[in-house]
Amino acid sequence: MNPVDQHEASMAQNNIRSPKGSQTRILLSSVFGPYARDDEYGSRRINPMELYHNQVTRAQGGFSLRMFHRTFGLMMIQANIEAPCTLLDFPSQERFIAEIRETDYDVIGIGAIIPNVGKVKKMCELIRQCRPHALIVVGGHIAAKDDISQIIDADVIVRGDGIRWFRRFLGEAEDAAIGHPAVLSGFGGRIMGINIGDRPSGTAAILIPSVGCPVGCNFCSTSALFGGKGNFINFYETGDELFAVMSRIAAKLKTRSFFVLDENFLLHRKRALRLLELMETHQKSWSLYVFSSARVLESYTIEQLTGLGIGWVWMGLEGENSDYQKLRGVDTRRLAQRLQAHGIRILGSSIIGLEDHNPENIGAIIDHAVSHNTVFHQFMLYTANPGTPLYETHRRAGTIIPETEFPAADAHGQYRFNYRHKNIQNGDEERFLLEAFRRDFEINGPSLARLIEVLLKGWLRYKKHPDKRIRNRFAWEVFPLRSTYAAAVWAMKKWYRNNERLAGEMAALLTDIYAAFGWITRIAAPLIGRFAYRSLQKEEARLAEGRTYEPVSIYEKNAAALALESAALARAKVPILEAPRISGSPAPVASQSV
Ligand code: SF4
Repeated sequence: MNPVDQHEASMAQNNIRSPKGSQTRILLSSVFGPYARDDEYGSRRINPMELYHNQVTRAQGGFSLRMFHRTFGLMMIQANIEAPCTLLDFPSQERFIAEIRETDYDVIGIGAIIPNVGKVKKMCELIRQCRPHALIVVGGHIAAKDDISQIIDADVIVRGDGIRWFRRFLGEAEDAAIGHPAVLSGFGGRIMGINIGDRPSGTAAILIPSVGCPVGCNFCSTSALFGGKGNFINFYETGDELFAVMSRIAAKLKTRSFFVLDENFLLHRKRALRLLELMETHQKSWSLYVFSSARVLESYTIEQLTGLGIGWVWMGLEGENSDYQKLRGVDTRRLAQRLQAHGIRILGSSIIGLEDHNPENIGAIIDHAVSHNTVFHQFMLYTANPGTPLYETHRRAGTIIPETEFPAADAHGQYRFNYRHKNIQNGDEERFLLEAFRRDFEINGPSLARLIEVLLKGWLRYKKHPDKRIRNRFAWEVFPLRSTYAAAVWAMKKWYRNNERLAGEMAALLTDIYAAFGWITRIAAPLIGRFAYRSLQKEEARLAEGRTYEPVSIYEKNAAALALESAALARAKVPILEAPRISGSPAPVASQSV
């Protein structure tokens, strides 16, 4: 479709209205699994549904952090429409078919990223077969793919803000306040073969204050999806609004930490500083885990960051001498070390394959990235995602590799470039990428040990802070060091007994932990540590046999959908408490929003 036709189609799609308004029955679904295997629909073994293991700790074996995250975009839509809406997250193909056969949905929405295009195509075909009158709506990053309308049989492709589109489509108030789902940020967590558990008191709630990022780096698909450079959407404009939402989530989930899913949270300075004021006034000892660009971070004092409870930052390092404005004039190594000295865990993000990278300089580039010694380190290939300026540059130059040669399912940033790189060819980028992960792991050791070290530093620095609110947060964060984390370090010391350097580092860390927490920790560490060591051994054996992990399928209804279901059951004179299950699926639970 040429750009003019595309614009007209998109205008027409923006203006369609549901004849049933808020009575429209909606199903929202993520793409079907299983995910961590190679299959005809585009699942890839190296692209599992585990964010950290996929692109941060993938070379750390049994030490890799394994965790699943919900499809938050679909949850936000469900929480912000009045129409009955069911959400199916991580279904199998059979579960998806059962759901669309069972219920007479008017609209079926699918959220996906571009590598999942084969799955979305299959789901559209299934909907046409099983529920031919349903309107098919597709959104998320996949909407940026320029030929998407020719590949999948959908009625509407929603680009950008799905909440606004659905509200308009249903005839509901587009500008009504944004409700926020009350949900934990991750589930199914596992490290060293041990299930971390999903206790609300120990897991951060998700918080989405804004989407998009006005900085507009040329490769950034998230920024591009919401308008690119200069654009973003604030769900909560002010610190007061944000504070109210956070208070409600904290009360509902009994949590005290937030994973702030906002591309550049601290960039919204006025809102962040007002939030700080309110946290101080109301004595909130919350922890905030945020994404932030380096220059923005530098514009805050350490007192402000500590006061805001910033305990963890995902920060783009991109690459030595890269020319991104957000990094200009910032010594990222010094910044990372300074923040970590204050207990702020850094997840540094580096790119392999920038324009000037070549086989001769890539070793030094990797060494520079690794020398940051951040708690976590993400490495991604410089990928030209449709919708981004980088993609446009390659499209105009004719250097995008056609999908007949390189399927979209493989363009996930952990395998190969999707364009012809001027200096790196023949698939060498995969070797460089894996080398970066390996070197970071070999030199800096398991991320878990780095995290424990930074937590300890933070606590030692702030345990006597005059402000009780600050002291409390550090005390809460450091609590596991007295037992389980100390045990993990004990197990790591044993694990590395044939690696003099890392064994020495683990021994020194353990000594520091004992010195900080005393004899109970000294007794507990070896006792629990033996269990952790055996568990790590078993996990390594499972991984060597090819074990992968998949998320459970989740099925949730909003209040209107639950009311509809209750009414149907009452009509059928089925006791409501015995709501039937679809075979193999969990019973629906009410989605919670505040
Ligand atoms: S600063 Fe980060 S989030 Fe913002 S555009 Fe650049 S890469 Fe994307």
